Amino acid sequence: MPSTTDKLTTTLSNDEVLRYSRHLLLPEVGMEGQLKLKQARVLCVGAGGLGSPLALYLAAAGVGTLGIVDFDIVDLTNLQRQVLHGTNDVGRKKLDSAAETLAAINPNVNVVKFETRLTSANALEIFRDFDIIADGTDNFATRYLVNDACVLTGKPNVYGSIFRFEGQASVFALQDGPCYRCLYPEPPPPGVVPSCAEGGVLGILPGLVGVIQATETIKLILGSGDSLSGRLLMIDALSMRFREVKVRRNADCPVCGNRPTVTQLIDYEQFCGVRGEEKPTAATMQDMTPEELKQRLDAGDDLFVLDVREPHEYQICNLGGHLIPLKDLPGRVSELDPAREIVVHCKMGGRSAKAVDFLKQAGFTKVHNLAGGINAWSERVDPKVPKY
Ligand SMILES: [Zn+2]
Repeated sequence: MPSTTDKLTTTLSNDEVLRYSRHLLLPEVGMEGQLKLKQARVLCVGAGGLGSPLALYLAAAGVGTLGIVDFDIVDLTNLQRQVLHGTNDVGRKKLDSAAETLAAINPNVNVVKFETRLTSANALEIFRDFDIIADGTDNFATRYLVNDACVLTGKPNVYGSIFRFEGQASVFALQDGPCYRCLYPEPPPPGVVPSCAEGGVLGILPGLVGVIQATETIKLILGSGDSLSGRLLMIDALSMRFREVKVRRNADCPVCGNRPTVTQLIDYEQFCGVRGEEKPTAATMQDMTPEELKQRLDAGDDLFVLDVREPHEYQICNLGGHLIPLKDLPGRVSELDPAREIVVHCKMGGRSAKAVDFLKQAGFTKVHNLAGGINAWSERVDPKVPKY
């Protein structure tokens, strides 16, 4: 994809003049700025919660080339926040749904689709043809990968992240500015920070943060205003307070410091301790399948069902089990009878596996983990139990 500066990108058609009229009226944008937008090449990593507002506004604003990296399929739980996609898109590739939505908003935008997971093997190659990288990822491994690839290729990293009611935004890897690793040299230990699939997220929050990322991207293209480089913006949607902290470039930063130790992309899954979303667990000795549990309950076996989810999850659906949230288990273990056979479950099998480990260490011998959690029960035994 050679960057052409032919007549197409150095002028605006009459239709484009009309479309971008409210930009052209701003002296800070004007014809010159609008042409910069038209010539700009921005890569959105992810077409999910943050990627949705990002791509929508960048396309509407007239960013000429918009790359999108995504390999995911639209599912029903996405629609509460991923406004690029609609109900009819459930089951489709996010990339196809996104490209269609963006073309409907602004057919002048060239959407370049990368149907792949961003990895150490392809990131530098994919980044090469873009001026700015907007990070809409939802996991630490990809976030560190995006950061390092931006530093190594010298491209600005427009960062955003969200969790529950809180968001962050900044611009990293700008000349002389700090990078993500200057702020967070190491990822948190695996499992300490839950994903949105585990902890939930307020649907409008990615809208708020993604629009800030889009604003920073547009400003970088126009070369106007003060960017968030050197500042971390922290947003609390519940109190509706915006705070910012200064972030300085760290001379000892392993990737952008004076003596970098990271000079090429590494294995980020390993660096972050692979985890990501709460995954259905693989069957092990102490696992019980949903079918097996159903069979044994129907047979009248004496099984004690322990639910280690949170009370608000119990309200969504339950198997009538005894509720002790995982974090309360150590203090409430006396509620359990070690003589009885116990089946522990959560949503997808991750937390219950931890509970089983804990109980075994506490001397319980007859404990099983319900493989795949209540979601697997819903899929394979009783579809009347809602999945969430
Ligand atoms: Zn750094």
